[in-house]
Amino acid sequence: MTEAPVIEARSLGKTFILPRGGLFEARRSVIAVEDVSFSVSRGTTFGIVGESGSGKSTVAKMLLKLERPTSGTLWAEGQDIFAQTAAQERAYRRMVQTVFQDPYGALSPRMRAGRIIAEPMRAQGTDRATAKAKVAQLLEIVGMQPEAASRYPHEFSGGQRQRIAIARALSVDPRLLVLDEPVSALDVSVRAQVLSLLQEMQARLGLTYIFIGHDLAVVRYLSESVGVMYFGRLVEIGTARQVLRRPAHPYTQRLVALAAAKAPLGAARLQGELPNPLNPPSGCLFRTRCSYADALCAAKRPELREASPDQRVACHHHEAIAAGNKAETGPLLQPA
Ligand code: SF4
Repeated sequence: MTEAPVIEARSLGKTFILPRGGLFEARRSVIAVEDVSFSVSRGTTFGIVGESGSGKSTVAKMLLKLERPTSGTLWAEGQDIFAQTAAQERAYRRMVQTVFQDPYGALSPRMRAGRIIAEPMRAQGTDRATAKAKVAQLLEIVGMQPEAASRYPHEFSGGQRQRIAIARALSVDPRLLVLDEPVSALDVSVRAQVLSLLQEMQARLGLTYIFIGHDLAVVRYLSESVGVMYFGRLVEIGTARQVLRRPAHPYTQRLVALAAAKAPLGAARLQGELPNPLNPPSGCLFRTRCSYADALCAAKRPELREASPDQRVACHHHEAIAAGNKAETGPLLQPA
C-alpha cells in the first residue's frame, strides 16, 4: 500500500470578509488563496515561493490551523485536519511545528532558553526531569552547548536564536515543520549554517518541510518540489529542479531572472504593482504585469496544465513563449 502524503492540500481556498466601511455599504471580500493543491511526501521539502501578498503565509496559517479554509480541504497523513476529533487535533498539534522568520520575536525575552525549548513539552504534560534531559539533547542536536539552557534570548546571536527556535520546534518530535522564511533575517554566513542544520535534521529525523520563502536560492537549496504563488493562486508547480531551472510561467521567469541578478524580490523590482485585491483583473491575474498579455489573457483565467512531465503551469501561451513565438506586447494594465 502506498503511504499517504504527509500533507496534501486539495483546492484550498481562503476568502476574507472585510468589515463594512459604513452602515449602508455592502460587505466586501478578498480572496487570499484560491484553488491551491499540492502534496508532500515524507522526508521531502515543498517550497512555496512568492512576493508578499501572494497568499503563501495564509497557506501556512491554514496548515497550522490558525485560519480555517473557506473552500477545499487539507489532509495530514490521510486525515482531514479540519474534521478531527479532539484527540486527533492534539496529535496533529504535536505532529506539526513551525519556525518563523524572526527568532527574537518568537522567543519570550523573559524566559531562559531551556524553558523556551521545554515549553511545548511541558504543555503536553511531559514531567520536568524528562523535559530537562531532552532540552540538553536538543541543544546538542542543534549544535549548542548545554550551558545555553540557562541564558536569555538577548544573550544569543540571531543564528543561535534561530537554533533555539528549531530546538523548541523539535521538542515534541514533530513530523512536519512549517518553515516560514526561517533564514531571511539572518546574515548570509549564518543563513548557510542554519540551512545546513535544517538539511541535517531532515536526513537524521526523516522530517517533512514546507518551506516558505522569497529567496529562490534558499528555496532551491532545500526543496525537492516547489509551488510559485501569485495573488493567492499557484501559477506554477513541479520539481524544484525543473521549475527553477526552466521556468515556464512569465512570473516565475521574472523571479528567476531577478534572483540571477541578485535583486531583492519585491514589488518594486518587478514590473508593475500587485493588483488591488478589491478589484482583481479579469482573466489571468498576472496580465497587468505580463509583457506577453493579449486579449485571451484578459478574457479567460488560465488553468494549471502540464508544461513538462515535472511541471504544471497556468499560462495560455507558455508553449509559444518557450518556443520564442510570442511577441512581447506589454502588460494589459487596466483591470476590467
Ligand atoms: Fe497570464 Fe497571458 Fe501572461 Fe500567460 S501570457 S502569464 S496567461 S497574461
